[in-house]
Formats: sequence, C-alpha cells, structure tokens
Amino acid sequence: MTVGGYINGQWIEANDRDRFEVVNPAIGELLAQVPFMGAEEATLAIESGRAAMDGFVPDLQTRKQWLNGIAEHLLAGSESLAQTITQEQGKPIKESRAEVEYAASFFFDVAQRLAILNPKELPQPARGCTWTVHHRPAGVVGLITPWNFPLAMLAKKLASALGAGCASVLKPSELTPLSAMALVGICDHLGVPRGFVNLVFGDAKAIGEVLCTHPAVRIISFTGSTQVGKLLATQAGPHVKRVALELGGSAPFIVFDDADLDLSAEALIQSKFRAAGQTCVCADRILVDARVHDAFVAKVRPRVAALRCGNGMQEAADLGPLINLEGWNKVDRHVRDALRHGATRVVGDEVPQPPIDSATFYPPTLLTGITKEMMICREETFGPVLAVRRFETEAEAVHIANETEYGLAAYIMSGNESRVVRVTAKLVFGHVAVNSGTGPAAHAPFGGMKHSGYGREGGDEGLLEFTEPQVVALRR
Ligand code: ADP
Repeated sequence: MTVGGYINGQWIEANDRDRFEVVNPAIGELLAQVPFMGAEEATLAIESGRAAMDGFVPDLQTRKQWLNGIAEHLLAGSESLAQTITQEQGKPIKESRAEVEYAASFFFDVAQRLAILNPKELPQPARGCTWTVHHRPAGVVGLITPWNFPLAMLAKKLASALGAGCASVLKPSELTPLSAMALVGICDHLGVPRGFVNLVFGDAKAIGEVLCTHPAVRIISFTGSTQVGKLLATQAGPHVKRVALELGGSAPFIVFDDADLDLSAEALIQSKFRAAGQTCVCADRILVDARVHDAFVAKVRPRVAALRCGNGMQEAADLGPLINLEGWNKVDRHVRDALRHGATRVVGDEVPQPPIDSATFYPPTLLTGITKEMMICREETFGPVLAVRRFETEAEAVHIANETEYGLAAYIMSGNESRVVRVTAKLVFGHVAVNSGTGPAAHAPFGGMKHSGYGREGGDEGLLEFTEPQVVALRR
C-alpha cells in the first residue's frame, strides 16, 4: 500500500515534508509515518477537484462502473483491509472484516440506485412549457470522517459523492489515515480520473477552514463530534455551503416488561460492545422496566463477563483497546462518578489499571442503579460500559429516552406491536431499531435529529444530498 496524501492523481508528501506517526493502539507499535498536510495541500486538492469537474460530467454508466469496481476491489482485498483497520483502530479483526463488507455495500447500493438521477419530466406542463428536473453534481465536496469506522465512514460519503458525479476531498481522522489510503489506492488502480478523489490529513483545523471557505467547495459532509460539527457549520455558513452533519448520539435502549429478554440481551451486547462501545449508535442509556429489571440483568451479566479484551489481531478478541488515553480516562471518570453516586458494579474490575501510553483496554463493565444526576446519563460515554436505569411506566421511559440533546439512534425491545408503534412515534431519533440491535444499512437513509445533526447517508436521500436539482422549463 502506498503511504501518502493523494492530490490530482499523484501520491504526495506534505509541501514542507513534515510527517506524523500512526500507531497501533493495542500495542503501541509504529505503523507508518505519514505526511502532515495543511491549508496549502487542501487548496491544491480542492483545485484539482474543480479542474476535474470543469466541463466533464461522468455519465451514469461510467459512475456505475467506478462504484461497482470499488466495491469488488474492497471485497477482493478484504483480509488485508481488515488488518489495516484493526492495526490502526484497534477493533477485533472479525469486526473489521464486517466493516469492509459494510463499506462495499455502500458502493454496490449507490451503483444500483443511480437511475433516480435520470432527468425527470414532470407530468404537468405549465405556462406552455414542459418541466424537467435534472440532478446536477453539486460541485467539489469535503468529506471529513472520524476514527471509529476508518473505512466505512469514508465509503458512505464517497459512494454517494461519486454517484452524484462530484469530486471529493477526503479528510480522514489523523488517528486512522491508512484505511483511507487503501480506499484511495483502489480508486487510483481503477483509473478514476485524476482530481475526482483527493486525500489530505494533518492539520485538521487548517484543512477544515479551507474546505469551509474555498468557493469551489459546495458541500461539507462531516461525521464526528458535535463540537467540531458546530464549528464547521459556523465556518461554512457565511459562504452559503451545504453542510451535512452526523454528530454524537446517546442512544436509549428500552426494555419493556413484555420483551423477549434473551433476544434483548443479545441485541444489547451486539449494539453496546461494537468497537468497544465507541460508535455513535452504540446503546448508551439502558432503560429497563422495573418489573423485569432483575431478570434482564441476570441474562446480561454472564454475557458481559464472557467478553474478552485483547489485541484485535487475535481471532478470540471480542473487544479491542479504546482509541487513546483520553478516551480511556473519560470512561473511567464516568464509572467512578456513577459508583460515587450509588451505582453498583455487577461486572468489571474493581480498579481498572490506567494504561501507560498504549494498550488502552477498558474492562467490559455492567453497572446498575443508575440515576439521572450521574455523568454517565448526561454525556456520551464512548466505551464498554453498560449502565442500567430502571423505569416504572411507558410514559416515563419515553420521557427519559428523549431527555437528551441528541437524536441519532434508539432501540426498543417489546413484544407488543401497538406499544412499539406508539412509542416509536414519540421518540425523537432518526434511527429506531425494534427487537434488534442493528445500526444503519446502505439502502436506508441514516442521520440524526436535534444536536445529532442533519442530512442523511444511505438510500436515495444519501445520494441526493450530493446533487443540486435544476429545473428546466422548455417551450417547444
Ligand atoms: P472524534 O472525537 O470522534 O475524533 P472529532 O470531531 O474530533 O471527533 O473528529 C472527527 C473528524 O473531524 C476528524 O477527521 C478530525 O481530524 C476532524 N476535525 C477535528 N477538528 C477539526 C476542525 N477544527 N476542522 C475540521 N475538521 C476537524
């Protein structure tokens, strides 16, 4: 795999040849030294995107070939890509393999829905004209992504951007740029025309400022923290750019007294411990009907106790390390705060040993007796901690679930269909899974409400995000 930035079809060093290190969080091993780029490189990348789009709109058939080609290459190179993800991110290899498939599914999916971009003549002529809607490529787009899904987060955005005919500037997290290089390497190998896909990383703030202010950039699509999302929206606002934001979540996971408790326990483990609890759709606030609380905890307890932390490269590992010491400290702070306020630790080490600088493993932990004033209820924990809170009535469960500034994912466990319909309609969340711990999928629009952001990824909506409708009224 080539290591570097990628601008205008060339692998590049930083202009000042500065570099930074990418490290495996499980064992502290140096993986690569990569160019530290900034405003200058971001500007070059945007301008190469503008030049690529100047007078050239790839037809739908060409885009379809790119998309299918990328998906097939991702699957063909799955094992080596999965290893790259695990080495730089830390997640278990089985999750990385699933991530590669998930990434490929976005390219396949967009490839087969491109027909929605064909010009559509409206059935009603008006004012002596026929009216046709065209979906034009929006322009150069900036795609900024986090470290928890180093490949899939970029894939979601790049698939739709390429499908829409836009040139992209990819800006992955500095913690995990190697998966992005592998993805860009596939585009390079397939002969996607130069300038259509560019890759920069290094000084995130400087690159972000250029993306938000350069006139050729029409859309910033960002996944990451609410804090940075708000900053980007503020920076891009005066330049009247479209911003799509997929920000934090604090997903409620509600177990009603009529739920299948085994199925609920399985769904919870699946949702909570993916990427060691470091995804924005991970179950975060576990709300359990008091009548089934003890029975449910009894089902969850052995499942949590059986989870094994370890270097993700070992097949047996269920959980890898947290991404860094900062993440570890936050989780530990939340657990200590909960215990201080009266929570009970049902599973988890008495005193988790703080890591020195790598091997940031946090023991899978189950806490009960969670109450509203605890930090763990108010902030996203982003770690392998199950915090269970009791509720007495359906209305109370809905109230607690919505009592957050976030609105990304929610989970309901219930065997009562009318209750599911009633509760779902009251939940202010963009994604609701019922009797399942599933997160988003390529064919469905995914995104948040409230401070979890706006804009959607996946489905027709995700593809249309990167287009501008243009209406042509034609008198024949
Ligand atoms: P996380 O805590 O999940 O890493 P961040 O919001 O800090 O979330 O990071 C998500 C992405 O945003 C990363 O690619 C990061 O480099 C980038 N980023 C961080 N700060 C800025 C900024 N000021 N402008 C643009 N991008 C930024």
